[in-house]
Amino acid sequence: MRNFDIIVIGGGHAGIEASIVAVQMGCSVGLVTMDKNAIGRMSCNPAIGGSAKGHLVHEIDALGGFMGLIADKTGIQFRVLNKSKGPAVWAGRCQSDRKLYSQEAVNLVTSFKNLEIIEDSILEIYEENKRISYVKTISGNEIKCKALVICSGTFLNGLMHTGLTSIKGGRFGEKASIGLSESLIKMGFSSGRLKTGTPPRLKKESINFEILEEQKGDENPKPFSLRTNKNRFPFLPQISCHITYTDRVVHSILEKGFDKSPMFTGLIEGVGPRYCPSIEDKIVRFSDKLRHQLFLEPEGLDTDQIYLNGFSTSLPAEIQYEAIQKIKGLENAEMVRPGYAVEYDYFPPYQVDLTLETKLIKGLYFAGQINGTSGYEEAAGQGMMAGINAALQIQKRPEFILKRSEAYIGVLIDDLVSKSTNEPYRMFTSRAEHRLLLRQDNVDRRLLKYGYEFGLISKELFNEMKERETFITVGRDLLSHTKILPNQINQLLESKNLSGIYNAETIDKLVKRPELSLKEILNLFEQAEMKVYNNLIDKEKLLEDLEIEIKYEGYIRRQEDLVVKTEKLEKTLIPLNFNYNNLKTISTEGREKLSKIKPHSIGQATRISGVTPSDISVLLVYLKS
Ligand SMILES: Cc1cc2nc3c(=O)[nH]c(=O)nc-3n(C[C@H](O)[C@H](O)[C@H](O)COP(=O)(O)OP(=O)(O)OC[C@H]3O[C@@H](n4cnc5c(N)ncnc54)[C@H](O)[C@@H]3O)c2cc1C
Repeated sequence: MRNFDIIVIGGGHAGIEASIVAVQMGCSVGLVTMDKNAIGRMSCNPAIGGSAKGHLVHEIDALGGFMGLIADKTGIQFRVLNKSKGPAVWAGRCQSDRKLYSQEAVNLVTSFKNLEIIEDSILEIYEENKRISYVKTISGNEIKCKALVICSGTFLNGLMHTGLTSIKGGRFGEKASIGLSESLIKMGFSSGRLKTGTPPRLKKESINFEILEEQKGDENPKPFSLRTNKNRFPFLPQISCHITYTDRVVHSILEKGFDKSPMFTGLIEGVGPRYCPSIEDKIVRFSDKLRHQLFLEPEGLDTDQIYLNGFSTSLPAEIQYEAIQKIKGLENAEMVRPGYAVEYDYFPPYQVDLTLETKLIKGLYFAGQINGTSGYEEAAGQGMMAGINAALQIQKRPEFILKRSEAYIGVLIDDLVSKSTNEPYRMFTSRAEHRLLLRQDNVDRRLLKYGYEFGLISKELFNEMKERETFITVGRDLLSHTKILPNQINQLLESKNLSGIYNAETIDKLVKRPELSLKEILNLFEQAEMKVYNNLIDKEKLLEDLEIEIKYEGYIRRQEDLVVKTEKLEKTLIPLNFNYNNLKTISTEGREKLSKIKPHSIGQATRISGVTPSDISVLLVYLKS
């Protein structure tokens, strides 16, 4: 029987990160996936990042993952979203060339010597004494492993719907995975059913872009990855997207098809994504809205396909087509393929712990859509964490868990495990209570140390970060001592209709004014003390980082204080085998939830819905005694 340290099932966004991270940490890895050429395929939107998802990409990158690098290489439009809001919610997004993204991913995974790609489908998995043992493929091969990471996406018993037609499949043109779910259920896992959907693709030449609103990318696009060569970025020509809208007429045509909608006739049982609803869902849920915005996004540089973002649907194809013809700019649009919905099995994530290892079977990890999430970035973040932890376990090293105050990835996994989910989970900045600490600008200072510790980040990059960190500390100190005289700054203040100063003020105090940037203040002076800035690489970015630290200092400090206060609860650990039946005075629901979720710490226990503050007090008293 063949043998690997780690087998990863699925070459999607979770599987790519899991397998690459594990091989880089010194493990032999077998990546078993149904179609080699579909590695890294974007099932739906050809875009990476966006609100909160962009944060995840930066975090994956700082840990040593590859999603950001691939996106940088294959991006055809880059934008930072929410620039008018505070820096905590700035979020990078890129429109990718779908074909090139997948090609780049294939090139990457095939470049590692100890990572073997096996084109096959896993049918069954086997354990021995509650520890993962081996897997069996559809072609009859048996492969042994010390750890198994399942990243099977939307493929488990996948069923695709367009109108009243349903066919088995994981996504367009690809077979479903049959057998694996049943094998897991036989082991004692519980499963559920979710659904997601995708819009129709249109032929570019048939769209009248002339009459549509153009949406350009940023003038100075910023890469996701700290490792991208900025001198060569962007690597590809940059293109525009376009915006159009539905209207009442379009809605009434779509409504005609509701009696043949798999969603409304009960054909689809799985719960859909609340925050990424289909167009038919939007018409019903927001019936007072006269129109919905749609984005026309090119699928690549040399393809003729346009992705109709915002028009995800599983209505009959002829209804989709008829409605599209009534949309401005799409009057003559040719539909290359209709939208559809896909239903699939997932395994509610209370069944994994914070390392993403299942509580039932040692050495078995779940990552990505199988845990009930939706989105490439959420999947990739979990893939990283599962891959790292699987490797650490094999090497008998301590497990790796990111705290909620350290990373969105920490928030994501803690939410999944502590609250579980019965609908597709996607990341939002509002899910992170410490979001002012989890900014894109400080991601290197938050996470590079871990990537470096695991051998995924080079010493050079780590040292550069240390240098930046020192700069920020030194710069912060310098600016709080360097004073500006009224005659040096008042002209600038007047030009901005701001009140002038009468006495000398420190630079940091002035930078706190929202209308002033650090750069423009420093431009006014050529002070000897400021030479420190000239020696440092990436000066522009450094000044931006320093400015954020100063401007938001008060808020940041408050969040840091809060983290310190709650840290005590996070550090009060609960043994994994703790018997909650010993606690006679806690609520029945509290006992049930605590026994099911088995929280690591009191902090985690407080986040489980149904566990009351008095349950926590009882637990604390018991643990102390
Ligand atoms: C139609 C559709 C619409 C979507 N819409 C959205 C959306 O609007 N917004 C959004 O955020 N996300 C959307 N998604 C979800 C997004 O594609 C996933 O969240 C993301 O791709 C999950 O990554 P993953 O790595 O978990 O799995 P995937 O990217 O799905 O990859 C799974 C991989 O596992 C392989 N595999 C599965 N079972 C086996 C097996 N038994 N043996 C071997 N290999 C196996 C498959 O071949 C595949 O390569 C959509 C997905 C689909 C299909």
